[in-house]
Amino acid sequence: MFIEPRVGNGRELPRRGWIEVVVGSMFSGKTEELIRRLNRAKIARQRVEIFKPALDTRYHVEDVVSHNATSIRSTPITFPQEMLLLASNCDVVGIDEAQFFDASLVEVCNQLANHGVRVIVAGLDMDYLGQPFGPMPALLAVAEYVTKVHAVCVRCGDIATYSFRKAASAEQVLLGETDSYEARCRHCFLEGQQEKSAAETDAVATTKH
Ligand SMILES: [Zn+2]
Repeated sequence: MFIEPRVGNGRELPRRGWIEVVVGSMFSGKTEELIRRLNRAKIARQRVEIFKPALDTRYHVEDVVSHNATSIRSTPITFPQEMLLLASNCDVVGIDEAQFFDASLVEVCNQLANHGVRVIVAGLDMDYLGQPFGPMPALLAVAEYVTKVHAVCVRCGDIATYSFRKAASAEQVLLGETDSYEARCRHCFLEGQQEKSAAETDAVATTKH
C-alpha cells in the first residue's frame, strides 16, 4: 500500500509538491485508490480539489465516482490549463480518468507540483488494444511515485492488466463500463483479440458468397 511521504504540513515545513500516478486496467481499483489518498489528505486538513475530463459523464457530472459507489465531488474540465486557475489555493489536486486529457496535462501537472502542490493522477495506462493511452506514459516518466494496480482476469483468475473490449467498436473512447469491457490477463487478452479477428475474417468471407 502506498504511504505518503507527508500528508499534512504539521511540521511547519515549506510546502513541497510532487506527482503521484495510479494506473491500471479497468476494474483495477484506480479510482478507489485515488479517493483513499484524497480522503486521508482531507483528514490532515489539506485543501483538496478534484478534476476529471468533461466528457466522462457516465454517472454524475460533478462526482468522481468509482464502481463501488464511494465518491467525491469533482469539477469537470475540458482543458488541463483550467486547473492552474481553479487549483491555485490547493494543497492537493486529484485528477481522475486522466488518459482522456491531451498531452498538455503533463506540463500542467509539473507546474502544479513545482508550485508546491501534491498532484495525484489516476488513469488507464493502456487502451483496449493494449497501447499506451494518451498522456499516461509521459506522466509515469515525470512522477515521483508510480502505483500500478491490477484487476483479476474474468477468464482464468490470474492478475489482469488489460481492458478487453467485448463490443466491436474502433473508437478509443468508449464509455459504458461493465457491459462493454472486461479485465483480462495477457494470455486471455491475446486469445480474445485472436478470436475477434478470426470472427471478422469469417464475417468478410460470408458476405463475399
Ligand atoms: Zn486470464
